[in-house]
This record gives sequence, structure tokens and C-alpha cells, in this order.
Amino acid sequence: MRVRILASGSGGNLSLYEHDGFALLVDAGVDPGGLASRLRSVGADYTRPDALVVTHGHADHCAHARAYAEGAGIPTYMTDATMRVVRPASARHVFRYSAKEPFRVGPFEVRPCAVPHDVPQVALRIESDDGCAALIATDLGEVPAELRALLAGVQLAMIESNHDKHLLEIGPYPRFLKRRVGGPRGHLNNDQCAELLRNLPASVETVVLMHLSEKNNRPEVALDCAAEALSDRSTTLLAAKQYDRQLFDLVPRGREGATLAAPDVARVEAIARAIAAPSKRRAIEPPNPAQLALKL
Ligand SMILES: [Zn+2]
Ligand SMILES: [Zn+2]
Repeated sequence: MRVRILASGSGGNLSLYEHDGFALLVDAGVDPGGLASRLRSVGADYTRPDALVVTHGHADHCAHARAYAEGAGIPTYMTDATMRVVRPASARHVFRYSAKEPFRVGPFEVRPCAVPHDVPQVALRIESDDGCAALIATDLGEVPAELRALLAGVQLAMIESNHDKHLLEIGPYPRFLKRRVGGPRGHLNNDQCAELLRNLPASVETVVLMHLSEKNNRPEVALDCAAEALSDRSTTLLAAKQYDRQLFDLVPRGREGATLAAPDVARVEAIARAIAAPSKRRAIEPPNPAQLALKL
């Protein structure tokens, strides 16, 4: 299975899972035309996904779901709650899924798990029929026990590391928004993400930190925190930025090679430097807006 992360964050979310000539898109934070040009820019041999699964009814995940289902005629899978937000005009290309039941899309088994957020939301475990598996879990305020169970056998774990608690506290958001983002139905902070990473199953070879806030986090802070949690194991660690282009090839376990992580040497070196830098987590300066832009 090949996994592409092409956008991650509050500006829009988009990841693709490819196997056996089938491309499954998760989340519609970018319209079909924008996706086609991104796929062309990364040299993909297709410009149109075969199916779309939407995780939840927030605009950065579902804004363009109707354009995929109705405009492009792509089979689109949503829960009832998301359907009420998206309001498709026709049921022709729309399929319901339950947050409690696994379902099949082409050569993939998609296993959802409800996670706490301020609208109904799911994490997804996506397994190709040759046994490769990836998990994407963003937009969750806390980690439920079921999510830990869902990580079993996963090679690539894409986990939200949305904000640093201190940067959120001193950052520009109004008080109500700080409470929402940092609350039990908001977004996962770096420490909560690290706590999950401390107990990852041995199958996980690559971790990508997702949905980083551009205002309340810094990639080097998130990576530093996650690296500490993963220090006793050999795991490739990366952070996705808002408009990213990362590619991962997963191969069935037991075969030569294991997971091949993003072959972008400059990025990997930048991340290695960030991880090697001394921890600044306990003494973060007040935020300089110019420094808050994601630089990786
Ligand atoms: Zn989101
Ligand atoms: Zn959300």
C-alpha cells in the first residue's frame, strides 16, 4: 500500500491510500481540481480518486465532499452525522457508514473508531488486502482505549499533535477558543500524543505528527516531545505541514524491506536537526508571529 499525505491542518486535510490500482481518499479539505493538480505535481499516475471517506463534519475535512460526490461522481462514504452537515442533494454516489462497524472500500478494509471531538468524529484504520495497515487519528480531545486497540498491526501511524499547552495558553486565540481546542472534545496536544506514542505496538515503523496548529505549536516542539516518547525504539518520526507532499510505501510484514519512509533527504535532515536540538519545551518564549509559520 502507498500512502500520500497531501494536506494536514486546519486549512484542509487530504490523505490517499493506494493499492492494486485503487486510490482511496480520506477527507475532502481540497476540491477535486486542486487534488488533481497536486497529484500531477507529485507525478502520480492518476488524478481522480476511486472513493472518498469523510471523517467528520468540519469544513477542513468535509468542505468539498459534495464536489466529489455530486460533481465528480466519486463514491463518498460518510456517517449520518457528517451527512447532516454535508447535505448531499442526491444519494446517488453517497454511502453511509457506522462509526462502530468496519466496511470495505475497493481493496481496503476501513475500520472506524469513534473519538471525542466537538462533532461526531472517527479515527480510521485502513488495511489493504495484502495485510498492510495505516491509522489516521486527528481531531480528538482525548485518546479512548479503543484507539489504542486499533493500532494493532499498523505500520504507519498518523497521529494528531495539534498544540503545545503552553503555546496555546499564551497564544492569540480568544479564551473560549483556547478552552475548546484544549478541552476533552477539542484537539490532541503534544503531551497527549506523546503518551499514546509511549505505548505503540511493535508493528509501527513510522509515525507522522498531524494537524499541527500554525498558531499554537511549532514542528520542532512537537517533534521533540514525540522523539522523547519514542526514544527507546527505532521508529521513523516526521511532522506533516499544512500543504505537504509525503509518500510512504508499506510492504506486507515478513517481506524484505519493511516500510519505506519519505525519501526526502532535506526534510529528514531538518527533522533530525530539530530532534537533536536541546529541548526548549520548558522555556518557550512568547510567540513571535513570524516564527509560528511552519518551517519544515
Ligand atoms: Zn480538523
Ligand atoms: Zn474537527
